[in-house]
Amino acid sequence: MRIGIFGGTFDPVHLAHLRVAEEVAEKQRLDRVWFVPAGRPPHRRTPQATPEHRLAMVRLGIAGNPLFKALDCEIRRPGPSYTVDTLGLIKQQHPQDKLFLLVGMDQLMELHSWHEVHRLLSLCQVIAFSRPGQPLPMPEQILGPGGLPLPTRAYLVQSVSALDVSATAIRQRARKRESINYLLPNSVIRYIQKYRLYTRSSL
Ligand code: ATP
Repeated sequence: MRIGIFGGTFDPVHLAHLRVAEEVAEKQRLDRVWFVPAGRPPHRRTPQATPEHRLAMVRLGIAGNPLFKALDCEIRRPGPSYTVDTLGLIKQQHPQDKLFLLVGMDQLMELHSWHEVHRLLSLCQVIAFSRPGQPLPMPEQILGPGGLPLPTRAYLVQSVSALDVSATAIRQRARKRESINYLLPNSVIRYIQKYRLYTRSSL
């Protein structure tokens, strides 16, 4: 099987995440896309919603799509969530399958600073997708282990439909009690309302 691994904070999951997963799966002929909400992401500040809420929202958001599944391995593991550990674990459990790591172009540009990037690249092929407003870098600007240009065979770039949706904007709108309709699935909106997520002032 060809398995896509899509990590993120998903604070909350929104329609652009789902659309990216759908389009990458279609174009790259992935048999599965597994969403992996980060527990404690090492590269960014602590998410606002708890890991359990973020996982629950991902589960609601992907419900009904047989290709999609949510993994709780990063939120169950103590300490920082390193993608390489997640990939290692999945590879151990699925040695015959080919793993593809879905990353935004912003993350691809930071790949050289990720934990054990050399091992990470031995475990998967990276699929980077564009995000609205982000210029496509030149290949020599994309760095891998040791800060050297990442070999082009290690990754591919796929453009996806530009949907200008971000979790930050959704949290901001929720905090100001503005509508978040049509930015994320209704089931996730209901969950946010039920648990009064994102109504505090920290973004
Ligand atoms: P935040 O606004 O809190 O930073 P986010 O909306 O960027 O969150 P993440 O959970 O950080 O969501 O995203 C996971 C991945 O999805 C990242 O690689 C990110 O670049 C990508 N992504 C998020 N929103 C979009 C979008 N509108 N279009 C394309 N990619 C996106």
